[in-house]
Amino acid sequence: MVNFLGIMQKQYDVIILGGGLAGLTLSLQLKKSRPEISILILEKREAKAATAAHKVGESTVELGSHYLREVLNLKGYLEEHELPKHGLRFFFKNNTKHDISTRVELGPREKLPVPSHQLDRGTLENELMRRSIESGCEVILGARVKDISFSNGENEVTYIVNKEEHKAKGKWAADASGRGNVLKHKFGFKKDWDHDVNAVWWRVKGVVDIDDWSENKEWKTKLKPKLRYLSTVHFLDKGYWFWVIPLGSKNTSLGIVADQKLHPFDTINQYPKALEWLKKHEPLCYEKVKPFGEGEGLLDFLILKHFGHNTQRVYDATERWGTTGESGPFLDPFYSPGTDFISMNNTWLSDLILRDLSGEDIAVRAKVYEQTHLSLFESWTQIYQNKYQLMGFTQIMVVKIFWDWAVYWSVLALLFTNGAFTDLKLLKDLFANEKGLGRKFTKLHVQMQNFFIQWKPHDTEIFSDKYIDPFDLEFLRKFQQGIDIQQGSPEKLLAKVAENLTILEKAAAEIFRHVSTHVKGTPADMKVNPYTINLDDDSTDTTSADAIGVDDAITKDISTMWFYKKKELV
Ligand SMILES: Cc1cc2nc3c(=O)[nH]c(=O)nc-3n(C[C@H](O)[C@H](O)[C@H](O)COP(=O)(O)OP(=O)(O)OC[C@H]3O[C@@H](n4cnc5c(N)ncnc54)[C@H](O)[C@@H]3O)c2cc1C
Repeated sequence: MVNFLGIMQKQYDVIILGGGLAGLTLSLQLKKSRPEISILILEKREAKAATAAHKVGESTVELGSHYLREVLNLKGYLEEHELPKHGLRFFFKNNTKHDISTRVELGPREKLPVPSHQLDRGTLENELMRRSIESGCEVILGARVKDISFSNGENEVTYIVNKEEHKAKGKWAADASGRGNVLKHKFGFKKDWDHDVNAVWWRVKGVVDIDDWSENKEWKTKLKPKLRYLSTVHFLDKGYWFWVIPLGSKNTSLGIVADQKLHPFDTINQYPKALEWLKKHEPLCYEKVKPFGEGEGLLDFLILKHFGHNTQRVYDATERWGTTGESGPFLDPFYSPGTDFISMNNTWLSDLILRDLSGEDIAVRAKVYEQTHLSLFESWTQIYQNKYQLMGFTQIMVVKIFWDWAVYWSVLALLFTNGAFTDLKLLKDLFANEKGLGRKFTKLHVQMQNFFIQWKPHDTEIFSDKYIDPFDLEFLRKFQQGIDIQQGSPEKLLAKVAENLTILEKAAAEIFRHVSTHVKGTPADMKVNPYTINLDDDSTDTTSADAIGVDDAITKDISTMWFYKKKELV
């Protein structure tokens, strides 16, 4: 029985608004560092989370997995109760979608050195809740936060339980209400971004194993049994992707994510319509998954229109609040980055809270964290914005996926696992300085994202019967393996980022060389300044001292992901 009188009189160190993935992991991160701090979690949900049919956010990638496993010590739980994941896997458009074995397939063959997991969100949240309570947090279920006020460095939260209004006081307020967006609504921080993409998803009883979708022996035996099944599987074509994710509870998550302009929401927003859509665009998927959703097999069906949103603020040192998870920015689920966003966000927010509770002046730190957070997200938007139109172009998408992974593994994930996100000096060196490596890296990344769009009219061929493994590319394999390696000091970490950036520059130059040779017939050994690449005109710098020549190892790697015939290269 919750003692509301006690709650009203007590002042908590932290009140967390919302007990979903972001709120519960924040509470564990805080408690792990300082077990004595007092935390109140107010969660609207009234009962335990349902298995399988709870929320989306089931597939994790390296950064988020590192956070759950190493930072929160959930390694044992994840290995015992959730599924190990075999990377992200993609099947691209071809002319025979009825035969999965002929589609171009991208994904790892062998077990990955850096682990990740497929999460049953209901099972996980129940476990996180149990651990939060065990660590001393007070949790009120069925508590809907109605309002919050701030004065003299403390806050008062008004919430409703059983139609009755209650109040609680705290030094810090962490908004983890997801799409409840408590603080964003209150302060009007919402920032639109032009990314009109919608999603629908449903969970079905039973195991959907795509290895059973073809009788082609060569295809079936390309990977060890169950490895395809353990991947997060994406089927792509122009303007959409369809996901298949296995869950530890022996159920399966399925979802369509589609650009409004190419696949209007009203063509997918009800289960029968989603099936019809699937029948038209992914006939084999339709045939294979439909029986699972019959009768009681269909566990839920959920929809989300225009899911992307951004924000103007994340942390405030004066009034002592922060937002985390989807109550802040959320961009797009392609590449499964949701748990990564939460990991970075919680790492910044918990650091601010803990330092402030220790009496440190956090004003500058809060500003730097907020600027880094918002500018990182701003550059991340480029991965997605206007890119759904590219999803039907296999060669571009293969190169883009490898590029996006390369920047993610070599810089972002590496910085996170090496503790750089809370190293003020490092953040300033990387991002505040105009010539900082972080700024340079962002510029290169944006240049490449624009280049992918320029390439679109020239990628005309439809490919079949190809398998491509990211770890056949040496530089990608090294980047992924490098994530878990501790560099030992900020100086060594900066040196590693600089080394990785040099490889990225060479890769960008070589990708441009390949495409330009194919499209314009330029020499295959032309020097290229990667910061100037442009396919639409002749402005690419090929002569200055910043133009990079051929590096044989990188050329070999880029050639591995090149599908057009080599004889077309000059
Ligand atoms: C289509 C789609 C697919 C996705 N796929 C992935 C994926 O594969 N991998 C991945 O990592 N991420 C994925 N994500 C992102 C992932 O879903 C989110 O990152 C994650 O669920 C956000 O967690 P959260 O705790 O911020 O929000 P939630 O999990 O929604 O938690 C918010 C909590 O706050 C509570 N709440 C809301 N309002 C109030 C209130 N007023 N008072 C009290 N409590 C309140 C809610 O009940 C809820 O429990 C996906 C997102 C979408 C849209």
